[in-house]
Amino acid sequence: MNHDDRDREAHSGAESGEEGTARGSGGRLDVRPGVASPGSTAPGAQRRVRRELGIDEHVEGILSGDRVILGKTITLIESRRTEHNRTALQVIEKLLPHTGRSVRIGITGVPGVGKSSFIEALGSMLTARGHRIAVLAIDPSSQRSGGSIMGDKTRMEKLSVDPAAFIRPSPSAGSLGGVARKTREAMLVCEAAGFDVIFVETVGVGQSETMVRSMVDFFLLLMLAGAGDSLQGIKRGIMELADAVAINKADGENLQAAKAARSEYEMALHLMKYPAPDWNPPVLTCSAVTREGIDEVWNTVQRYRDLMTDNGWMERQRREQALDWMRDSIAQSLQDRFRAHPRVAELLPSLERGVADGTLPPLLAAQRLLEMFFDDEISTL
Ligand code: GDP
Repeated sequence: MNHDDRDREAHSGAESGEEGTARGSGGRLDVRPGVASPGSTAPGAQRRVRRELGIDEHVEGILSGDRVILGKTITLIESRRTEHNRTALQVIEKLLPHTGRSVRIGITGVPGVGKSSFIEALGSMLTARGHRIAVLAIDPSSQRSGGSIMGDKTRMEKLSVDPAAFIRPSPSAGSLGGVARKTREAMLVCEAAGFDVIFVETVGVGQSETMVRSMVDFFLLLMLAGAGDSLQGIKRGIMELADAVAINKADGENLQAAKAARSEYEMALHLMKYPAPDWNPPVLTCSAVTREGIDEVWNTVQRYRDLMTDNGWMERQRREQALDWMRDSIAQSLQDRFRAHPRVAELLPSLERGVADGTLPPLLAAQRLLEMFFDDEISTL
């Protein structure tokens, strides 16, 4: 386990049984290799942090609903070390027969629209009805800036202490494609641990929506009324991905505006192409604060699920998603391996400079690097 991973594990509370419930970026817990943590009271705590579980321990722990082990398995999935990822894959392979039975819901919307408040409201309603919910996140901002739109505030206060809920922040390392792959794997592990509703949350700013759409059964777009420009920077393409739109903050003075916006969005959606049969994406209004309309959103998800199960769309969608997943993994692995190749890594910066300043044709640069990579790959076969 490298420093980053150890930090992450310590930070996310794996040893205290809190892993996965803490969201946001508090102070880093500085656990250095070989240095006893001054605050550590439990003897052997350092050793426990480092001990790696065997595959069967992961599998059994997850199947028995042990959240500490669930958190540790997701930490393995998110690790940058290949051997951790390999172990995680073996764990997932064993868990596969226990996956696939949850309702997978993607949620998107611009920052401030109320995504976390909405998940808190709907999630609490569901746990009160006996469901077990997991919340995973994909935050594209953390890839670009190292900071995060989602993570730096206290979110989902009630759910984060609800024993029937598991909240995991977005993995911060790697490309968006890499993060998506990790989130898919985390989703399977959560399903095997008995969570029957999985929310995958993302910020409505672009590419991450397509990825989330490709891993969930139902994709919900949250919007606001009366925020000036009718589509609020949400690209048309994102509206086209939605199975339903919910106008949040339909409360107090905002209620009338929300109702007006509803017809506006209904018209906009009506003009768009929607792929699934027997379904026109509805526009709903809700309030994460008063909780008005939240159960209607859930009823909509269930209605969609029943219909799409009956007409075969659900199965078809999951099959296509599985194929997408495989293809994405291949592309991702090839890219990782290409970038990790020593000669490629050495030459890439200078070739990129040549391409950028116009002295080297892009195709030629690509060809040189690929030849170097494939020649070496083939010679090691
Ligand atoms: P996110 O960035 O999309 O996750 O948005 P948050 O859930 O953090 O909400 C942003 C702000 O809007 C917070 O101050 C919330 O209290 C507020 N908010 C969220 N949902 C509602 C709602 O339904 N009604 C009202 N009035 N405020 C809300």
